[in-house]
Amino acid sequence: MSKPTEIHRRMVALLQAHPEGLTSGEIRAKLGIEASEQAQLDRRRRDLYVWYEIGKENRDGEWRYRFISERATPRHAGPVPAPLRAQIKLAAHGRCQICGKTVEKHGAVLVVDHKVPQDWGGTNEPSNLWAICEECNSEKKHYFSAQDAEFMRAVMSHKSVHVRIGEALKKMGSVPASLLSLVAGQSDWMKRARELRYLGWNFETVNRRLPSGRVEATYKLLQFQEWPEDPTGDIRRYEVERASRNTRR
Ligand SMILES: [Zn+2]
Repeated sequence: MSKPTEIHRRMVALLQAHPEGLTSGEIRAKLGIEASEQAQLDRRRRDLYVWYEIGKENRDGEWRYRFISERATPRHAGPVPAPLRAQIKLAAHGRCQICGKTVEKHGAVLVVDHKVPQDWGGTNEPSNLWAICEECNSEKKHYFSAQDAEFMRAVMSHKSVHVRIGEALKKMGSVPASLLSLVAGQSDWMKRARELRYLGWNFETVNRRLPSGRVEATYKLLQFQEWPEDPTGDIRRYEVERASRNTRR
């Protein structure tokens, strides 16, 4: 993502109009976006750091965001600065953030890695960085580097979480859970994946032993369908209908 899109610009205009700061819920409400789209909007808000300096402070237990300035150059390019690298490693407390192996017990060597690769539009924001062991890093690279970066950038910038998950499955065939969660970019990604079944998709999860010896659930695509015009909308409507059927019963 090289330039802010319309939603980014609307969000920044809103923050500029509210120098006192806004919570992510307030940003959503003021933009007239539905509550179910909060996670998606939060991703777009995190994108803002690429082009803008955004302040964040906790007031009465809630994070409030405010506009500080526009950056002279976008932030996502280039290596992770050494102090940030050190900070990410420190926060990991000597433990791989994928498999949990430790420096002390297992002799793990931790490296700082971009959760969403920079090639796919991932930034140097702390939320997109983690410390993982060399084994997990090479496994991750094995899955990610084989993918066409331009294709994946397009997938990652897709508004619908269902499309992001579905397209990644189509492209990679089988994807370890830890990687699919990065593509989805939200904590309840497993539910989003299951919802693809409403659109006629099918996949299985198998516990697979990765080359490092770690066992992880891996999603394997069995069947997919063409996308309807509004996949996430269709899934929501299906759920509403199903809920009302169940109430009538
Ligand atoms: Zn690991």
